[in-house]
Amino acid sequence: MDPNRNDQNRNQNNNEPEKDKPKNIWTALIITLALVLIFSWIFNAVSNSQYTETTYSDFLDAKDAGNLAEVEIRYDRIVYLTKDEAKKPAQSQKACYTGLRSGSDVMELAAELHAMGVTVNEPITEDNSFIMMILYYGITIAVLFFFMRMLTKRMSADGAMGGFGKSKAKMYMEKQTGVTFKDVAGQDEAKESLVEIIDFLHNPKKYTDIGAKLPKGALLVGSPGTGKTLLAKAVAGEAGVPFFSISGSDFVEMFVGMGASRVRDLFQQAAKVAPCIIFIDEIDAVGRARDNRFGNNSEQEQTLNQLLSEIDGFEPSKGIVCLAATNRPEILDKALLRPGRFDRRIIVDRPNLQGRLDTLKVHTRKIKLSEDVDLRKIAQATAGAVGADLANLVNEAALRAVRLGRKAVNQEDLMVSFETVIAGTEKKNTVLTDMEKRLVAYHEVGHALVAALEKHAQPVSKITIVPHTSGALGYTMQMPEEEKFLNTAEELITELRTLVGGRAAEQLVFGVQTTGASNDLQRATGLARNMVTQYGMSKELGIMTTASVQNAYLDGQAYMDCAQTTAAQVDGEVKALLDQALADASRLLREHRSLLDEVSEYLLVKETITGDELMAYVNAENAPKLEAGTEPENEPTAEQTEGPSER
Ligand code: ADP
Ligand code: ZN
Repeated sequence: MDPNRNDQNRNQNNNEPEKDKPKNIWTALIITLALVLIFSWIFNAVSNSQYTETTYSDFLDAKDAGNLAEVEIRYDRIVYLTKDEAKKPAQSQKACYTGLRSGSDVMELAAELHAMGVTVNEPITEDNSFIMMILYYGITIAVLFFFMRMLTKRMSADGAMGGFGKSKAKMYMEKQTGVTFKDVAGQDEAKESLVEIIDFLHNPKKYTDIGAKLPKGALLVGSPGTGKTLLAKAVAGEAGVPFFSISGSDFVEMFVGMGASRVRDLFQQAAKVAPCIIFIDEIDAVGRARDNRFGNNSEQEQTLNQLLSEIDGFEPSKGIVCLAATNRPEILDKALLRPGRFDRRIIVDRPNLQGRLDTLKVHTRKIKLSEDVDLRKIAQATAGAVGADLANLVNEAALRAVRLGRKAVNQEDLMVSFETVIAGTEKKNTVLTDMEKRLVAYHEVGHALVAALEKHAQPVSKITIVPHTSGALGYTMQMPEEEKFLNTAEELITELRTLVGGRAAEQLVFGVQTTGASNDLQRATGLARNMVTQYGMSKELGIMTTASVQNAYLDGQAYMDCAQTTAAQVDGEVKALLDQALADASRLLREHRSLLDEVSEYLLVKETITGDELMAYVNAENAPKLEAGTEPENEPTAEQTEGPSER
């Protein structure tokens, strides 16, 4: 059988518009039969062209004249080679055929021909030929039918045929999650952002009456185990609506179109019970940015497009809210994040000391604790642990208590399970040793102080040594007072100093250089390079630009377009800028060494401090005459808006 035939047939079907989806088995059957007919017609046409058709009497004449060399009796025809043709070279021989009269005795004819000395190839009995024909058409039909069914099944999104689109989807629906915000410890900022959604689900009319559009979706961003699923469930629980959950990886399928059909299915089911919450875990599995770099992945693209159009499609007044979770927001497609889709981004950070304590409290609510238990100590020991780690820790402790035949969990149980669960045999890299914590604290305060003490710097809004989603062990967040579109050279140089401030502090205090500064240094180098090559802020090259941005709307990558010697000169200037920035930052920190120590110690205890707290320290040093508690002059914007710069 010709394998190409099935391929063609598959392609045709992929190009079919969706509304032509075959609705049932009969469609598949009819298409199969039509294909078989067409195919056998073509087959006949092709095979006949190799032979010359003759009449039966021509054949009889040739036989009687003794002019036959070879005869092959097929089920429906006689193919024969005359002696004249047989003399020619094999390639140019042309055989003849003539129809086989029904009812003629094939065996007798074969015997007669044989007696005449003609070579008879495989005389085929009628029974045999009939079976051959049945087999031939039967197998063709069976194979084609099988393929047609495969195709139609996966194209039937409505599951009319019980297609793949439905059967395997691991979708869970809970009428009542039974989880409320009380079960989610800490994460106050995330909860705050979600309160509005809950209110909307409670009373959509209040919002639609006034004409307000609520976000259709929110993206929960955070490390695994920080409680994103828990938060989404809590939203459903608080609002008292059903909760649909599916994992992004469940959408990713081998066959094109199946993921898309699952998305459709999910939203259809949700629409039936709205208001409700749809939760898509690991959305990065489907929402990855579309690109052509690694060949196009049409399945993923179709699924994503379907998701986008479903989100666009549902009426907000129906009360469907789509929550999605990811720990890799940077790889998501821009189209997912644009307004009207997952435009709200809710950061679910690793918990700080207080958050960890609250989490421990939540999970020990139903556990009998003995008198000596001090949860604060456990919380202090577990910097960097996420909610899931802590839940696990508490459970392990309870199991240990049972194993040892005790009626309540004591502090030792908790400490031992801390060692096994979190510190573990192999230390998890997110739990820092004391020395590492000190290093990170000084590093971050180094950044923050340089920024706070410089004239042109953006105010600091938050410093934390709680490890961050992105893998940073701590970060300093700066918030511009107003949106800025232009930067002066002074501001950029200040920015350079702030960026290298972390490394400067490490070197100054501990005399070491750590890997933690690598991202800072890359950014500083990039900035310095841009200053030299693009902004005309170079001492030696003046205003000559040596790099240009090729595609501003794609990656914004700049390409050097200058002589090699000039490129070397650029490198030299970049290095000089960085060296100068490091020297300046070090000098500044040396001059304010006591301030650096004070703030770092404070940060080590609190783990997260605000810009106000930092400025209080700075102002106290600068103006000891002022009364304590005076509001700092440069008050940073408190709330977190888009576009904070972290380092
Ligand atoms: P994620 O979806 O972010 O990977 P989950 O929501 O699945 O994490 O969290 C796993 C488990 O960890 C939860 O079932 C819960 O027991 C515990 N947990 C995580 N964060 C918290 C928290 N903030 N408060 C209480 N428990 C938490
Ligand atoms: Zn840094």
